[in-house]
Amino acid sequence: AIILGLESSCDDTAAALVDTDRQILSQAVVGQADRHSPYGGVVPEIAARAHVEILPDLVRQVLEDAEMEIGDIDAIAATAGPGLVGGVMVGLLTGKGLALAAGKPLIAVNHLEGHALSPRLADPSLDFPYLLLLASGGHCQLLEVRGVGDYRRLATTIDDAAGEAFDKAAKQLGLGYPGGPAVEKLAAEGCPTAVPLPRPMIGSGEPHFSFAGLKSAVQRAVASGQFEPEDVAASFQQAVIDCFVDRTRIAIEQADVKSLVVAGGVAANQGVRRSLEKLAGQHGLAFSVPPGWLCTDNAAMIAWAGVERFASGEFAGDPLDTPARARWPLDSDADKVRGAGV
Ligand code: ATP
Ligand code: FE
Repeated sequence: AIILGLESSCDDTAAALVDTDRQILSQAVVGQADRHSPYGGVVPEIAARAHVEILPDLVRQVLEDAEMEIGDIDAIAATAGPGLVGGVMVGLLTGKGLALAAGKPLIAVNHLEGHALSPRLADPSLDFPYLLLLASGGHCQLLEVRGVGDYRRLATTIDDAAGEAFDKAAKQLGLGYPGGPAVEKLAAEGCPTAVPLPRPMIGSGEPHFSFAGLKSAVQRAVASGQFEPEDVAASFQQAVIDCFVDRTRIAIEQADVKSLVVAGGVAANQGVRRSLEKLAGQHGLAFSVPPGWLCTDNAAMIAWAGVERFASGEFAGDPLDTPARARWPLDSDADKVRGAGV
């Protein structure tokens, strides 16, 4: 089966065609950084309007690139939340329109499920259940991924998400948005032990995260004028990594899994990838992380989540009155189809 995926939950507009054999037939992502950068962050209405402009052409483009027509597609998967709801509505409604016009099923995908299953698109050997560190712009969670639609949340952040912390550190250092890649680049030239920064929650018996205190400490370090920016960046990144490793170690003890997986935009960070791979090795777990482009927002992961749900049981499609959701926790959607996936 071939699934068209649509993504529009934040500031990336994306479309992709993925098939059941994990072939990415075509895909395209258009970022909106230039439209939002004058405001120092994503402006929801500007994002929604940009999706309206960009998405129809992207759909045309991915079909053309794969030399296909909409009639050749088996189902249309669109992000239905969580995210900036105006943008979600644009992609979801585009998906509904295409599904209706072509007479194909709609698959309303949870964006977090897209991130959570993305490692299985890149790694055919990755079986359920696995422990997932989901570290993105809006979330920082540890989840036991037991199957498609079957998630047990072990931990979450009590304040900021990890990607948000990278973006705020970048802002304090005068780097652009999105901050993650810019902080990583600067950190490569700095010393990770130069600036004393806290590791919130380390030592706690429950694997939750907290990054607000780290953000304030970075702010104070920058304001003090005592440190080089590259040393602040490197020390900040190391603090986040130390939190990831410590918290994930606790979760490994609580979860019954054979693999450790990291996904979401922050998983594009090389230091994060290396440290968690090492942790997995120490605990005798297999390790999997998608390529960087599949960690940050894209539509291939949405199409893939569609493939997994399409393949699981007697999937008939989601109703065309499915709502766009600003909030949609991964572990509480009882209305999801459960199954083993591909
Ligand atoms: P969510 O998925 O929670 O709804 P989102 O879709 O906005 O949020 P993603 O696209 O998954 O988030 O990830 C974007 C985040 O990842 C940003 O905060 C960005 O700074 C961070 N990020 C991207 N690349 C890197 C990197 N190389 N190092 C660290 N952080 C990174
Ligand atoms: Fe995301």
